[in-house]
Amino acid sequence: MTDTLDSSTSEAFRVVRHPSPATDEERAEKLRDLAFGLQFTDHMARVTWDAEQGWHDRRVEPYGPIPMDPAASVLHYAQEVFEGLKAYRWADGSIHLFRPEANALRLQRSAARMALPELSVLDFMESIRSLLALDHAWVPEADGTSLYLRPFLIGTDVFLGLRPPKKVDYLLIASPSGPYFAGGVKPVSIWVERDFHRAGPGGTGAAKCGGNYAASLLPQVKAYERGFDQVLYLDAATGSVLEELGGMNVFAVRRDGTVLTPVINGNILEGITRSSIIQLLEDNELKVVERDITLAELQDGIAEGEITEVFACGTAAIVTPVGRMASSDFEVTVGDGQPGPVTLAVRDRLMGVQYGRVEDTYGWMERVR
Ligand SMILES: *Cc1c(COP(=O)(O)O)cnc(C)c1O
Repeated sequence: MTDTLDSSTSEAFRVVRHPSPATDEERAEKLRDLAFGLQFTDHMARVTWDAEQGWHDRRVEPYGPIPMDPAASVLHYAQEVFEGLKAYRWADGSIHLFRPEANALRLQRSAARMALPELSVLDFMESIRSLLALDHAWVPEADGTSLYLRPFLIGTDVFLGLRPPKKVDYLLIASPSGPYFAGGVKPVSIWVERDFHRAGPGGTGAAKCGGNYAASLLPQVKAYERGFDQVLYLDAATGSVLEELGGMNVFAVRRDGTVLTPVINGNILEGITRSSIIQLLEDNELKVVERDITLAELQDGIAEGEITEVFACGTAAIVTPVGRMASSDFEVTVGDGQPGPVTLAVRDRLMGVQYGRVEDTYGWMERVR
């Protein structure tokens, strides 16, 4: 990794204003009954990289299609990594981000794994601030809504040979969004996948790359056809140890109050929600153990009532209770199938910090407006 906190390189983002941004009425219309990831703001931020100049041409420009040569390397070799974070509007109208530097650093780690250049933390932060300076009115205020920010890097080299790209774009788009799962804190059902794996030793499981998600779609579709909402993956080496869901980390709560979560092992995406939840649980006097959890332990634990709650977590869906879990050879209901007390309490606490309703004792929130 290069100097991650290099603060010397960010210059101001120049602004190319949208010639006809949404009117107040049009925006209000789009912010009504928000779903996840369907609406986009008037502008996007962009920084270009090439091998000669490094990162340059920092700008905010009208949101819109990005013309690309059909030989651009991302279209063939999937040189893409991304992030996801949210801007929250507090009751007093101010706008806050949740641990954005952690996203900036993770984007650097993901980029390094894909032989893409690393964007400085300062450029990452400035891109968000510059975009929000223009598009802050798009941060919705209804309960549970936010402006979902999607920073990403793509290889734009016009070359069919295989090499790290000599041209790259960083883009930041923003999507006013409602809850990821419609219908409040409804427990999801999970299919434990035996035939497919999300990541393997030495692979790209720890990088937030689009390719991981592409590979998760077939198992997701199959799980859906069986009547399940999400897929839980097991380790590729032994097929017996829990890793994570397609886009969320997983926790299990034991009857004695101990909370278990898979240890970060190079295959698992190191969620910022995950690490925040560990902190919140520990501060609530719960013992959190990061270690290998076998499927047998989970399955028997749930069946015998030793494990009373299971939940998944990530920025988009926050904390999502798991009500039912099954695979080709078993099916169990977790607890009584309803969201458990530890799950609900940690969800409440985390959202309380994010929306400014409870004190931010960790300095996690960063005010941007
Ligand atoms: C993004 C992501 C998560 C959750 O990470 P957060 O930082 O909590 O949003 C978990 N697993 C995968 C595979 C992810 O891509």
